[in-house]
Amino acid sequence: MLTALYIHIPFCEKICTYCDFHKEIASLDKKKRYMSSLIKELNNHKFEYSNLLTIYIGGGTPSSLPIDLIEDLFICIDSLINVKALAEFTIETNPNDITIELAQLFQNYGINRVSVGVQTFNKSHLEFLGRTHNKNDVTTAIDNLLKCNIDNINVDMMFSLINQSLEELEEDIAEVLKLPIKHISYYSLILEEKTKLHYLYRQNKISMNDEDLEALMYNKVIDSLINAGFNHYEISNFSKKGYKSLHNLVYWKNKQYLGLGSGSHSLYRGKRFSNIRNIRKYILALQEEGYPIRETHNIEPLREELIMGLRLLSGVNINYVNNKYNVDLLELYPEIEEFINQNLLELKNDQLYFTRNGLMLGNTIFSIF
Ligand code: SF4
Repeated sequence: MLTALYIHIPFCEKICTYCDFHKEIASLDKKKRYMSSLIKELNNHKFEYSNLLTIYIGGGTPSSLPIDLIEDLFICIDSLINVKALAEFTIETNPNDITIELAQLFQNYGINRVSVGVQTFNKSHLEFLGRTHNKNDVTTAIDNLLKCNIDNINVDMMFSLINQSLEELEEDIAEVLKLPIKHISYYSLILEEKTKLHYLYRQNKISMNDEDLEALMYNKVIDSLINAGFNHYEISNFSKKGYKSLHNLVYWKNKQYLGLGSGSHSLYRGKRFSNIRNIRKYILALQEEGYPIRETHNIEPLREELIMGLRLLSGVNINYVNNKYNVDLLELYPEIEEFINQNLLELKNDQLYFTRNGLMLGNTIFSIF
């Protein structure tokens, strides 16, 4: 049963220095052709939406599209899906895109959760990251959403920025905690290949923070957000009571979802597959063949279940996993017991989960699976 739908909008106004997502700066004509192909793809699956609970429109920056193209997409969704029955309907945005007009459009078409890419409030860090907004844009955006009765708001933040001091991080945390929001995603800056940041790094023009400072900053983020009443429920995600991201929980619980749009991934009907990534070829495929060419990927169900499930602070139930995959986890991965002895993992009432120390070393732990 399909309960979660992801829709990808691969366009941005400007490319951030650290970003390796599937996105590009495109002409208006290309955006129009992409959106009409996407609408075709949405229609191709029209008989599969009857049990949907969540829709997530991500990117790229969906809010950077001209407002009439966003409305065309909403009209299509509205014609195919019972939006009122959705528990969560999210769209990703940049703060400087959220005019009152756009917030009203969101409200009119049933968007009930908005994710705002803030990253930092610090002017020079924003400039270095290549972001296009300033601190005032964030408060204006959130005011506009609240005026339209959209209060389920997530803010994306980043820590361990290049040359970021602990004081600057504390200022960012203080600012984000002033906002009337329900959810915060707080990620560390990652050096991704084929980004401007990576190029600067290879030229020895920048250096990344060492692991100790990064761990100190991560601990600061966790403690501050918990003290402010947020529940730390996933490695990088914090929510007020009742406001966990329902759509992302589908990924973390390894449940099925369908992705539409170029480069989108799906886990559906027992298969993991992705749409063609090249936007021009995606448009052509939908025009000529009626569907985008898809690549199927191998599924490693146990590995995926463990890696996704352990991202949640509640962890995984080892009895459930043992029964589901007919294995004995502790026998299959003797390292788990070593990690428990090193106070990186904890096993209580058959529930296996990260300790605070383990959270700092997530990738080391994941590498055994
Ligand atoms: S706005 Fe988001 S998707 Fe676009 S380049 Fe920046 S980080 Fe990447």
